[in-house]
Amino acid sequence: MASLSRALRVAATCPRRSRTRGLGLRALTGQAGPAAEKSVPYRRTLKDPQGPSTVARGPSQPLPSTAHVVVIGGGSLGCQTLYHLAKLGVSGAVLLERERLTSGTTWHTAGLLWQLRPSDVEVELLAHTRRVVSHDLEEETGLHTGWIQNGGLFIASNRQRLDEYKRLMSLGKAYGVESHVLSPAETKALYPLMNVDDLYGTLYVPHDGTMDPAGTCTALTRAAAARGAQVIENCPVTGIRVRTDDFGVRRVAAVETEHGSIQTPCVVNCAGVWASAVGRMAGVKVPLVAMHHAYVVTERIEGIQNMPNVRDHDASVYLRLQGDALSVGGYETNPIFWEEVSDKFAFGLFDLDWDVFTQHIEGAINRVPVLEKTGVKSTVCGPESFTPDHKPLMGEAPELRGFFLGCGFNSAGMMLGGGCGQELAHWIVHGRPEKDMYSYDIRRFHHLLTDHRRWIRERSHESYAKNYSVVFPHDEPLAGRNMRTDPLHEIKKECLACRGAAAVFNMSYFGKFYLVGLDARKAADWLFSADVSRPPGSTVYTCMLNHRGGTESDLTVSRLAPGPQASALTPAFEGDGYYLAVGGAVAQHNWSHISTVLQDQKFRCQLIDSSEDLGLISIQGPASRAILQEVLDADLSNEAFPFSTHRLVRAAGHLVRAMRLSFVGELGWELHVPKPACVPVYRAVMAAGTKHGLVNAGYRAIDSLSIEKGYRHWHADLRPDDSPLEAGLAFTCKLKSAVPFLGREALEKQRAEGLRRRLVCFTVDEKVPMFGLEAIWRNGQVVGHVRRADFGFAVDKTLAYGYIRDPSGQSVSLDFVKSGDYAVERMGVAHPARAHLKSPFDPDNKRVKGIY
Ligand SMILES: Cc1cc2nc3c(=O)[nH]c(=O)nc-3n(C[C@H](O)[C@H](O)[C@H](O)COP(=O)(O)OP(=O)(O)OC[C@H]3O[C@@H](n4cnc5c(N)ncnc54)[C@H](O)[C@@H]3O)c2cc1C
Repeated sequence: MASLSRALRVAATCPRRSRTRGLGLRALTGQAGPAAEKSVPYRRTLKDPQGPSTVARGPSQPLPSTAHVVVIGGGSLGCQTLYHLAKLGVSGAVLLERERLTSGTTWHTAGLLWQLRPSDVEVELLAHTRRVVSHDLEEETGLHTGWIQNGGLFIASNRQRLDEYKRLMSLGKAYGVESHVLSPAETKALYPLMNVDDLYGTLYVPHDGTMDPAGTCTALTRAAAARGAQVIENCPVTGIRVRTDDFGVRRVAAVETEHGSIQTPCVVNCAGVWASAVGRMAGVKVPLVAMHHAYVVTERIEGIQNMPNVRDHDASVYLRLQGDALSVGGYETNPIFWEEVSDKFAFGLFDLDWDVFTQHIEGAINRVPVLEKTGVKSTVCGPESFTPDHKPLMGEAPELRGFFLGCGFNSAGMMLGGGCGQELAHWIVHGRPEKDMYSYDIRRFHHLLTDHRRWIRERSHESYAKNYSVVFPHDEPLAGRNMRTDPLHEIKKECLACRGAAAVFNMSYFGKFYLVGLDARKAADWLFSADVSRPPGSTVYTCMLNHRGGTESDLTVSRLAPGPQASALTPAFEGDGYYLAVGGAVAQHNWSHISTVLQDQKFRCQLIDSSEDLGLISIQGPASRAILQEVLDADLSNEAFPFSTHRLVRAAGHLVRAMRLSFVGELGWELHVPKPACVPVYRAVMAAGTKHGLVNAGYRAIDSLSIEKGYRHWHADLRPDDSPLEAGLAFTCKLKSAVPFLGREALEKQRAEGLRRRLVCFTVDEKVPMFGLEAIWRNGQVVGHVRRADFGFAVDKTLAYGYIRDPSGQSVSLDFVKSGDYAVERMGVAHPARAHLKSPFDPDNKRVKGIY
């Protein structure tokens, strides 16, 4: 039997160009041929003992004619989603599996579950999966899922990595996840077979563990069936029937199979690497790619029993305990794409390409030297789906109502399955997930990118290769750049802005929508938490809420006067008209949210996307008025052009919409400019601004300036699981009026019961970098964690925003906030902090009014 060291030697001695795929494997294991499927010992434990002859002559049960929900795919995600739907009381949900449960990717998973990740939401999702597999399922079904709690150990081979682990440890404290930073000597005592000579330290999480795919899926479906759900195997879905309702909205009507159809208003696509094919059946774009992903299983290793699983991030390798052996796997820089995803592939594996896999062996042997002399028992190389940002694809597809995605799990679909299954079920039943799932929501991707094959492929490749990289703040991907460019792209330069004179920001990527029509006013009243139905010429900062009072978006809404002719700046409309400006990265999310509400409420109005027709140039700072007065043909005095108003003006001869607003806390205007006029208007602004010290500025400057002023960033300190009352944005809610709006009832209830948590600004005098996820201490207890942090250059301090709770469970009053003694813990070190009820910079809001 080949050993790992032999694999390394074979790979090293074979000239790269002369080796063919599979040669390494054949040389090492003696197996022949580059077969698409290969045998491994696990097959027998997961497949029917009688083998493939029992497969697919017909469905394992008769198909019902109707179902509330049909889940497609019986892997980790399908089974978890079915189980959670059943738990939420959805009667008669049906799961259709083409072959047998787990036969896609799930059956050969490594099944590792690590509780700590650099995201608070993911920590919660993982905790739920762990709860389900280690406790709930066994209690409900009496079946052991195969969960093994052997602990997890992250290896730090450099200081930055250890810093990252210390940050995780601090976040873990906010969620009750026990973890310890260990020295090399302590690590050696815990894991005697490990080489610790080159370590800086490790992070040990004793309650991490390993999931068993067959045991988990069996228990999930058993528990779901006990609550009335149905699992039908050997039943490939062949089509999705779509109907168009009276309002022109496309909706799911039925699922078709070779054995009949099921009428249903709701389908969940949990088809793993086949999810794109299932999406195509419904005209839905599913931006994922299929790649080979692999580990090898060693022979017995004396002394390895009961050791924790290991992730050596810097070597991009993991070592999973498998009885008295190890599984060794990792993420390669040059993964193999599965170009032609076959729909005949069930319980299948690929031959391992040792050319690609060899890069893990050196790291594995370095970490556990006994591996050098340990044989390889088998190789496991299977298909898995990967996405452009290494995050799953979930939620309702923008193209089709009732069509949900639960796919694209980037080799984390076992450990995220429980949390995501629960959120997906909630999404289906209540129209929204319970947690902030924006990072996973399919609507985070602009519709121009979801079928851009090159962009999807290149970004997914980079994300795969960087999976174990240190997550540095503000890290930007390199792949797939410039596939969508803005009107100022040609001449834009990046530099830092300052609060001195003025800065110009190119914000052309903002989403720019018109909401117009006979019911537009009714729709605006319902959609927006603030009163936006003020006279034409007004601009209002508002939130959009979900029915739980959570914040789906913050945006500005400008009331329009009807225009005589349609143009990019004013569409022709009957009834009322509003112009909406929303953050660029969340434009698709906003579009989908508004469209869904309009459809659900049957409002007679149109939502028009003008994002690609208009640029947005924003000039901010004390000198902005003097600069723009030279460029615009309008009086910019406070009296003639007050804050929070807009109007059509000419800029360097071009008609533009000028809006007096600020997102950085300065006197300033946004110019919404038809695309062809963007470059001349920008040049005129720069020409007028040079003598006033105008500088170009970028998004990082916005981050710092806006946190200093206390302006919220959606999806950072303001999310769908935060209400505007908790976030200190009560002023955006028309609660004093009698006008009903989406989320109002939830806000009223929250106000009556008292706030259970509250967003608080902290300043930290010590100059330590903070980026979010640090633990917040109050009077010696952890009361929350930081959502967003940055350095404020005018206040010369680090600023951090986080939601705090009262550990006694009481509501969080302003007195509670004021009376505490605070510290913010970063990487295990607590830094004294001061809580603020108002923004520490310009608390009286003078600068936006032009008072300097
Ligand atoms: C080598 C390897 C190691 C891994 N290690 C880990 C790990 O340690 N921890 C972790 O969390 N994750 C890990 N993963 C990832 C994890 O296993 C996957 O993310 C997860 O199993 C995917 O589950 P799924 O339900 O999305 O897809 P699948 O398991 O592929 O399920 C999709 C199902 O849909 C069915 N289907 C497809 N088309 C149709 C159709 N038309 N009609 C009906 N049914 C259809 C398929 O037959 C299949 O059963 C690993 C993956 C690999 C490859």
